Amino acid sequence: KQLLANRVKTLTPSSTLAITAKAKELKEQGIDVIGLGAGEPDFNTPENILNAAKKSMDAGLTKYTPAGGLPALKKAIIDKLARDNNLTYKANEIIVGVGAKHVLYTLFQVILNEGDEVIIPIPYWVSYPEQVKLAGGVPVYVEGTQEQSFKITAQQLRNAVTEKTKAVIINSPSNPSGMIYTKEELAELAQVAEEMDILIVSDEIYEKLVYNGVEHYSIAEVSDAVKVRTIVVNGVAKSHSMTGWRIGYAAGDATIIKAMTDLASHSTSNATTTAQYATIEAYNGSQDTVEKMRQAFESRLEAIFPKLAAIPGVKVLKPQGAFYLLPDVSETAEKTGYTSVDDFVSALLTEANVAVIPGSGFGAPATIRLSYATSLELLEEAVRRIDAFVKAKW
Ligand code: PLP
Repeated sequence: KQLLANRVKTLTPSSTLAITAKAKELKEQGIDVIGLGAGEPDFNTPENILNAAKKSMDAGLTKYTPAGGLPALKKAIIDKLARDNNLTYKANEIIVGVGAKHVLYTLFQVILNEGDEVIIPIPYWVSYPEQVKLAGGVPVYVEGTQEQSFKITAQQLRNAVTEKTKAVIINSPSNPSGMIYTKEELAELAQVAEEMDILIVSDEIYEKLVYNGVEHYSIAEVSDAVKVRTIVVNGVAKSHSMTGWRIGYAAGDATIIKAMTDLASHSTSNATTTAQYATIEAYNGSQDTVEKMRQAFESRLEAIFPKLAAIPGVKVLKPQGAFYLLPDVSETAEKTGYTSVDDFVSALLTEANVAVIPGSGFGAPATIRLSYATSLELLEEAVRRIDAFVKAKW
């Protein structure tokens, strides 16, 4: 008998992991590799959050919580959504889960029937297609080219909808492109979702990391009618540098949230209790450190962007949010003797000792993704190495 279920046969491990593993291997051999693959802020979790976690443990608050999350945490999330996003929810419209990733996983499990289509804009976060497929769904890709700032248009969305379409995923600010949809663009996309009667999955995990005055809007803010067909997914991983705590949440239709909570009651039970207490403080406490971290990312971006853009052949848009750059390096790869960007990325690692993520994993094979969630010093050295590598071979 076959060892594995059919369901996992086409499952591909996260593309970001392969290059990170290779970089680690080189590091262990004593090679000075600079990794620009990081998907997490390089700051410590703020002190007040750590203290709240410790306090809760000392008070003996280490038992199960309700499957959908502590009432006090739901309240803190409801307050946050009202404060930051002008969105009003009740407690039965919120679920707290084990990171935004698992919340999305649970969401697709409860909304998709076999064969249901989910529209995924390219470039996409690597987990969307796999999660959709694991729920029996079919990813339908719509390309946001670099010329259109890696965003899809309302017309493209309309063209992609079929009678099997269940939902569209909007991730703004985007991983990997760093682009942000404007309020107007969101309104146009939302109108199509309404006309075509599809759900909107809005992944807003990078909400707090926005630069140079660009603002984040939640598509659920467009109107009450749009809000009821939108499931907002967010979390504290990127905003509060809490990736390892694994707390994310969804806000949306009470029937969907109840199904997610029921599923969680049989899968995870609850997100880790201590992490939930930490998250209450993350939202109810001072937001000063969130802003400080944002500023650090912004100044790194400002410093590094012109240098990256000056490398021969590199075509790069200035990101508006998140902490990634997504240059098109197809010309650079070609002029330096590589038949693909993937090969260019491999050579960059072994010869220039800089680890970047090939865009092929995000559906954008002409690009590479560089994370600036690392010190400015290392970023500058990495860009200097890439520049020297390219110039030597051009
Ligand atoms: N959504 C996007 C676009 C992400 O990049 C990530 C993390 O890399 C997540 C969701 C998951 O966040 P969490 O750590 O809360 O699971």
